Amino acid sequence: MRIAVFSTQPYDRRFLDRASAGTAHRVTYFEERLSPRTVPLADGADAVCVFVNDHLDRAVVTDLRRRGVRLIALRCAGFNNVDLAAAEEHGLHVVRVPAYSPHAVAEHTLALILALNRKIHRAYNRVREGNFALDGLLGFDLHGRTAGVVGTGQIGAVVARILLGFGCRVIAHDLRPDPDLEAAGVAYRPLDDLLAQSDILTLHCPLTPATHHMIDAAALGRMRPGVMLINTSRGALVDTRALIRALKQGTLGALGLDVYEEEADLFFQDLSGTVIRDDVFARLLTFPNVLITAHQAFFTEDALTNIAETTLANIEAFASGGELVNEVTTDLLA
Ligand code: NAD
Repeated sequence: MRIAVFSTQPYDRRFLDRASAGTAHRVTYFEERLSPRTVPLADGADAVCVFVNDHLDRAVVTDLRRRGVRLIALRCAGFNNVDLAAAEEHGLHVVRVPAYSPHAVAEHTLALILALNRKIHRAYNRVREGNFALDGLLGFDLHGRTAGVVGTGQIGAVVARILLGFGCRVIAHDLRPDPDLEAAGVAYRPLDDLLAQSDILTLHCPLTPATHHMIDAAALGRMRPGVMLINTSRGALVDTRALIRALKQGTLGALGLDVYEEEADLFFQDLSGTVIRDDVFARLLTFPNVLITAHQAFFTEDALTNIAETTLANIEAFASGGELVNEVTTDLLA
């Protein structure tokens, strides 16, 4: 198979080269994001290999098919950036890496919770400047607090178990409750109960039309004053402008983000020498109780190895006419 890899970072190349060594596949790497402008780069490829911010809308999918592409291989779990209906109409198969390391994302989620609660990001700078005062660094014990987990699939389940280990009362909301988690002590509740009862609310459901802006002004209004909100899933699960209003009012106590609705123009590149033109993002950076990482929750050695190996296995299965165990279809949007 001829594979065109988009949004290539040096680490992608390193791990994909390792996974494809010894196979007959011909891999071509492009740093560009896949978009209507860059789709001609896929000319002659049988498969495109894409990541979270490649943009595969109907026009791109149609153009890919016209150029002979038959497979879209996502090297991520989320698939909100692909028009699945268009792919199905054109007979294009879409595969993903559903669970490369739920631990990587779950552990990063906890890193955000712990850092925000104990103000590690502020303490780090203070101590380096010789300021050893504790004023403003007051946190709370996680033990005994209520943590709400929205979406208890691969990642949310690990987060819930880690939070149980901290001694939290863990409540969860999912369309499909997990009986093993219930047995471990997680109580499933309607979303409104999570909003009303959680001291920490963490989002782990996929971005779909049903979950778009699930945390909006109305949802924020139902949450506990001072609540900590964490989103390591997809940016558009939250209405960022509403979050900023709640931060300004002081009702949202802390915010940890690894994803951002408009991240495609910012993340995965070094913009330190340029002016950030996104005023909403720039405003978020001004709050002392906001901690943002640039979509790095997946970024562990273990996860990158799994991503590369599963992506190659998905492509191999397609090439050999085998079963596509990691195929994504419109059924998953239900
Ligand atoms: P998963 O498919 O295993 O789990 C998602 C869960 O959400 C499922 O149990 C599903 O039933 C539930 N769900 C669906 N709609 C819901 C709704 N309306 N309300 C509540 N629950 C709902 O997915 P996963 O592997 O756990 O990943 C979760 C998300 O994390 C992905 O969709 C992806 O967007 C994101 N992610 C982020 C990173 C990162 O680096 N930040 C890495 C991997 C995945």
